[in-house]
Amino acid sequence: MEKSLVLIKPNAVQRGFIGEIIARFERKGLFIAGIKMMQLDDAILNEHYAHLSERSYFGELKDSMMVTPVVAICVAGLDTVETVRQMVGATNARKALPGTIRGDFSMSGEQNVIHASDTVENAIAEVNRFFKENEIFNYESAVTAFEYGGGEKARM
Ligand code: ADP
Repeated sequence: MEKSLVLIKPNAVQRGFIGEIIARFERKGLFIAGIKMMQLDDAILNEHYAHLSERSYFGELKDSMMVTPVVAICVAGLDTVETVRQMVGATNARKALPGTIRGDFSMSGEQNVIHASDTVENAIAEVNRFFKENEIFNYESAVTAFEYGGGEKARM
């Protein structure tokens, strides 16, 4: 199954949205393969946000990600990376559509409550960055047959 990395950011932890955000992924039918709370540090954020290292807000972004622990989630399913990005919405939450997580929970392009991997290639690297192999669980789902059609299951 295709996997993606989600981080519930410190601003969402502070505002009490952990449960509501996790519930959205469960309700959608995404499989939760790994979940944990972790305190991020400079080293992991330098890697995770390496593509933004030249931006003026890089330091502020890293600081904001260390204010509290984050909740890291590895979600899995069919076409997971694209599906989760659609659920998350645009980076600037004021422009994110209603119904998306950012669109419903945030007014900010900075304090935008959640991170989600943007490509399949990045998702593989990010899941490996945040989870050890023995923290990812491929347990049996009792409801896959009711979440996907036969042709879709064959693609998983
Ligand atoms: P996304 O999180 O949607 O994949 P990026 O990878 O471009 O977007 O940015 C990473 C994070 O950096 C954003 O989620 C947001 O928290 C922060 N960020 C993006 N643009 C800005 C900005 N102009 N000023 C401050 N922080 C920003």
